[in-house]
This record gives sequence, structure tokens and C-alpha cells, in this order.
Amino acid sequence: MISIIVSLLITSIISLFFSFGLKDIIGFWQAFSIATGLQIIIALIYKSFRIEQRKSSNITIRSRFDELLALSEVSFKCPCDKFTFTEEVFIGAENIFKCPTCNSNVKAKINLTPILQTDVLSVGANDMQMIIESGIDDTDTGNDLSEKEI
Ligand SMILES: [Zn+2]
Repeated sequence: MISIIVSLLITSIISLFFSFGLKDIIGFWQAFSIATGLQIIIALIYKSFRIEQRKSSNITIRSRFDELLALSEVSFKCPCDKFTFTEEVFIGAENIFKCPTCNSNVKAKINLTPILQTDVLSVGANDMQMIIESGIDDTDTGNDLSEKEI
């Protein structure tokens, strides 16, 4: 309510400025009505632009959210073996789902297994040659073994 009064006040003040400035050329009230009309048109255009902008940002937020949900989506079989769930599973959530086939509640337990990752060593041209040669050596020994087996 207060913002409406404030914007009406600002609109009329700006219109008054235009009216005083143009009163000798087109008349006081003519200038006042033109200035008010222009301000209303500009405000309407700005408002519709803002609504459009908000709509598009809502769409991007929605699509990001869907991407995030898709990352948590898993498929798993019910213990009754007759139904496969496809659900979003979260570590902090209960993750209990009702099987429509056997009508029982199934809890999806998440096991977290930390696996140590090894770094890939930077391989220079000389190292590459050594790896290739050692590979040839390996096949040689392999051949030796197969020969021994025969
Ligand atoms: Zn089931």
C-alpha cells in the first residue's frame, strides 16, 4: 500500500516537472497527462520484462534441480524380486519406499566405500619407449612359458 502511494507521488512529481517545463509550448495539463501516460507505459513494459525474466530464471533453476535429482536416481530390486524401484536416494534421508507388488516397505541402505585413487604419472617420450620395451619383454617371457608348457 505504501509503495503504491510512493510510486504515485513520484509519478506526479515527475509529471509536474514536465508540465512546468513544457507549459509554454503545449500547455500545463497536456504536458502533465503525456508525462503520466508515458511513465505508466514504461512501468508496464518494465514489469512485463521483469515477469518474463523471472519466468526464464525459474526454468533454469528447475532444470538444474532436475539434473541434480537425476544424479541421485538409482534402480534396485525389491526383496520380493517382482518389482524394480527407480527412485531418488539421498544419504541424509530415510529412503523408504513401498513396493506396489508385495505391498511391503523397503529401505534402501547406502554403503559408502572409500577407494584410494592413484595418480597418473607423467610419462615422457623415453619412459614411453621403456614401457613399450618392457611390454615386448613380457610377451617374450609369455612365449617362453607357453613353450615350456608344450
Ligand atoms: Zn516387493
